[in-house]
Formats: sequence, C-alpha cells, structure tokens
Amino acid sequence: MTEALPPGSVIGILGGGQLGRMLAMAAARLGLRAHIFEPGANPPAGQVAERCVTAAYEDSAALRDFASGVDVITFEFENVPTAALDLLEMSRPIRPSRRALAVSQDRLAEKTFLNDCGLATAPFALVDDLEGLKVALSEIGVPSILKTRRFGYDGKGQARLGALDDAPGAWDSVAGAPSVLEGFVDFTAEISVIAARGLDRRVACFDPGENVHEGGILRRTTVPARIPASTKSDAVLIAARILNALDYVGVIGVELFVTQAGLVVNEFAPRVHNSGHWTQNGCAIDQFEQHIRAVAGWPLGDGKRHSDVVMENLIGDDMDRLPQLMADPAAALHLYGKAETRAGRKMGHVNHIQSGEG
Ligand code: AMP
Repeated sequence: MTEALPPGSVIGILGGGQLGRMLAMAAARLGLRAHIFEPGANPPAGQVAERCVTAAYEDSAALRDFASGVDVITFEFENVPTAALDLLEMSRPIRPSRRALAVSQDRLAEKTFLNDCGLATAPFALVDDLEGLKVALSEIGVPSILKTRRFGYDGKGQARLGALDDAPGAWDSVAGAPSVLEGFVDFTAEISVIAARGLDRRVACFDPGENVHEGGILRRTTVPARIPASTKSDAVLIAARILNALDYVGVIGVELFVTQAGLVVNEFAPRVHNSGHWTQNGCAIDQFEQHIRAVAGWPLGDGKRHSDVVMENLIGDDMDRLPQLMADPAAALHLYGKAETRAGRKMGHVNHIQSGEG
C-alpha cells in the first residue's frame, strides 16, 4: 500500500455540515487531520477540525490555498460546483472523482447512467417547460413526481401530481427549473445500501437498512431491513456495480425501492449518507471511518454488523426529548453542535441499540 497516506496527513473536506463533522472526527481517531472548506460561517465541522476556511466555492484563490495545505480532497456535500473541483484537482487528488459527483448532481445524467449499467429506475421523462410537462404526463401518467434535475435534497424541489390538471401548479412549484417527471413507484419498502470502494478496488458493503421518510426527510433507518436475504444480496450487488462503473473511491449511499418486480434505484449520493449513521453503533468500523480509510488509500475495514440498530433523526423540536434520550442507556446520542434549532433542521440523531448480536 505505497499510496496510503501516513498518520499526520491532512484530509481536505468540502462542506462543513454534520457529515463533515463526523468525517473529521473519524479522521482524528486515525491520527489524520481534517481541514474544512465551507461558505457558511461557524459550521458544525469547524468545531472539531484542525482548520476551517470560510470562503465561497467560486473563490479561486481560497480554493488554491486550501488545496496547498491538504494531501487529498473529499466532499460531504454533493452540490459543490464542478468548476471548484476542476481547479482543485490540478493540485490534489479528489476522491471520489469529479465524474461521480457530476453524474449524481443531475437527475437526468444519474438515471441515464443507472440504466446504462443495466439497473432499473422509475420511468422518467425530461421536462423543460409546461408544454413539455404535459407531453411527459401523457407518457408517464399519474401518480407521478416532478423533480428538479439539480439541487434537490430532502424532498425539496419536488412536486407530486395526482391528476393531469396538477401540471401548472407543479410547474410553478419547481419555479420553472429544468426537471424530470418520474412515474410513482409502488414500493413495499425503501432501503439503502452504504458501500465503500478502496483505492485497491476492493468493495465492502454495510447491511442494507430500511428507511422511513416523512415529508421527504429521512425519519428512521432500521437495520436489519425486513426483506428477504435474496433482496439484500441484490441490493449489495447493485451498489457494487455502481461503484465499479464509476471507478469510485470512498463511501456511497444508494437508495432503492423494493417492489414486487424487484429493486428499483431511486438515487445515489456520492458521500457518506444519513441512512448510514446506524453504522456508528452497529459496526466496528463505521461509514465515516470507512470513507476516510478509502480516501487516504488505506485498506477498508470490516463493515459487518455486530448489533441491530434503529437510527432516528432528531429534527427541529425533537430536541425537546433530549432529557429522556439522555436517560436511556441504550440510546447512543450524536449531536451536531448547531446553535439554533429550526423546524425541519437536522440537529442530531440517536442510535437505539436493539441487541448485542449480529
Ligand atoms: P428523493 O429526494 O428523490 O430521494 O425523494 C424523497 C422521497 O420521496 C423518497 O425517499 C420516496 O419516499 C419518495 N419518492 C421519490 N421518488 C419517488 C418515486 N418515483 N416513486 C415513489 N416515491 C418516490
């Protein structure tokens, strides 16, 4: 492993949210140092990193300076402009690659890539204007979901259509942004696979988790997912196929719908993922350490599950339950250090440990 970065090396992380914070903590535990680049002031990751740069992703001088102080660059946020990566990759390796990020940033590119890999997605059609939406509706039908091609997360930039008359309202609610219309998938469960690929091309997957969303935001992940063993292996094989096709290095989160006809890929995130937070208390090596190991060129760790876990996000007012959660000996708390509690804001999560056996 000549390419493995030695302890003391610096991991540059683009984005300073809770994912960056937990990556920086994992890096520190391995004797590595984390530098954060984040446009917003006082980000959660800044509290636990060696250095935190506050600058815009368009600030070339700040990007160059940041790159000169790190050994490798990764990201915790998929809406980093690719132009910033173009500049950074002239001086330092970026893991995962710009291509993985670019594909995931555009729902059209993402679905096309997935279909080209032989993987099923929801039926979809491109929508560029209201007329186009009507044509797409005649192809895809209802119920369906209009999603902006870019910058959607946690259910934002989406509108559901239950009737053909919903077209003008849906088009207004995506503010006329280039979009795709997706057929509604009749799923029995939503699952996700958190998987990693190392610089040595080895792939390691965590157990699939079963996810429940409310209002487009992840509420809970239960592991193990209540699905047949064959569905679990299919899910893991799908994640591995995506990783290999992208020649990926790092952790990826792949979200899937379980249907009567098999698995349908919803989307993937080229980073550590909220539905992988259970690994912090369910596995010896969690998703954050696994990602740091991959980007630092270290061998991947063992992602085997030693405990069953229910991960619950603490969103907005959920923080009022903190005294009870603190008093529960089987509740592993992870708080993000955000000063202000706001409705819909992810403030932390709790891993409820269910058993001591894998
Ligand atoms: P997304 O932002 O694409 O992950 O969508 C957020 C959530 O909306 C998903 O986790 C699903 O619960 C639901 N959803 C998104 N797309 C579809 C679809 N094509 N069919 C059914 N449900 C969907």
